[in-house]
Amino acid sequence: MNQTPAPDKPQPRITACAEPYWRSCLEDKLSLPYCKECDACFYYPRLWCPTCFNQDLEWRILSGRGKVYSFSVIHQSPLASYQQDLPYVLAVIELEEGPRMMTNVINCDVNTVHVEMPVTVTFEQRGDMKIPQFEPRQ
Ligand SMILES: [Zn+2]
Repeated sequence: MNQTPAPDKPQPRITACAEPYWRSCLEDKLSLPYCKECDACFYYPRLWCPTCFNQDLEWRILSGRGKVYSFSVIHQSPLASYQQDLPYVLAVIELEEGPRMMTNVINCDVNTVHVEMPVTVTFEQRGDMKIPQFEPRQ
């Protein structure tokens, strides 16, 4: 019996202020804006610093390392495009640089994922974009 291929996963919509973020993902690098006034690093990308509202920002490449802050194992998905991944891990990763981002932990048994687990970024090709995901760090 032939299996119907899974539909493509949705792609994020690129906003002007997040364009540098997605461009660096295409080069397998994670980057975020830093505030030139207070040195805050923040996620998600915005046009101003969420700490001091300064608009003078610079983009820096991050280490790509972090740890699991919180997670959930997803066993059911209403989206057909995610059925093939079940069960999968939806997680909040605390980056070494401080910000927390929601993403997935992949390339491991879902039962091995735990809070404080060291992880590193990896990139999933999705159409013409690359989506940051995380995997266990050795
Ligand atoms: Zn600031």
